[in-house]
Amino acid sequence: MACIFCHIIAGRAPAHIVYRDEQAIVFHDIRPAAPVHLLIAPIRHIASLNELEEGDGALLAHMLLLAPRLAEQQGIRGAGYRLVINTGVGGGQTIPHLHFHLLGGRSFSAQMTGRMAD
Ligand code: 5GP
Ligand code: ZN
Repeated sequence: MACIFCHIIAGRAPAHIVYRDEQAIVFHDIRPAAPVHLLIAPIRHIASLNELEEGDGALLAHMLLLAPRLAEQQGIRGAGYRLVINTGVGGGQTIPHLHFHLLGGRSFSAQMTGRMAD
């Protein structure tokens, strides 16, 4: 299995893991874009949002519900945080294993994506 996140899940590559259960793993991003930058990923290799199947709703809900718990653990729940899911090359995805970025510890603009040119 070539995927780096699968290597981390299998314990074959190092990572600062902060949470793990039978469905999901959470570890620090190696190149943090904010004081808190965690990656929430499924244990099962799913390449991206595009590869999700009908029965994956519970898994997704589980991963999403981890966010406020992790935010609490990191001390940023009250201040606020941002979840980002990049999908595909055009969406900025560089690792082909589904993950949510949990970013916090600094301010983000209210306008997430900016305006398209008129
Ligand atoms: P993407 O661009 O696919 O949405 O996000 C991939 C993220 O994974 C990037 O923020 C990148 O810094 C992080 N990353 C890439 N390789 C590794 C690694 O080997 N270990 C960890 N902890 N993070 C990684
Ligand atoms: Zn993988």
